[in-house]
Amino acid sequence: MYNHQPEKYICPLCQVANGETTERGNLESSVIFRDKNITVYISPKWWRSNPGHVIIIPNVHFKNIYDLPEEYGHAIFDASKKVAIVLKKSYKCDGVSTRQHNEPAGNQDV
Ligand SMILES: [Zn+2]
Repeated sequence: MYNHQPEKYICPLCQVANGETTERGNLESSVIFRDKNITVYISPKWWRSNPGHVIIIPNVHFKNIYDLPEEYGHAIFDASKKVAIVLKKSYKCDGVSTRQHNEPAGNQDV
């Protein structure tokens, strides 16, 4: 639904989920959690004003939130809460933000 994925697209997020090497190298050492549904890793690209950028991805490729089964959405949200608490405790940050992008107009770039 509402897909814009190019043909033969190699998804870098799936490469991380599968422990494969991406154009940014092998990020397996950046993975902080993985279970049957999701992988959580520290992004090699941090937002200038937001150190501690963590990415939570499903272990199965879904093009966007429109196609995401609830089972994975729930797992991502549960992990988001845990990561937020870890960020607060680890960095003593004043706040935590979460993002999820869909379609080019929604800033989806993967
Ligand atoms: Zn993917």
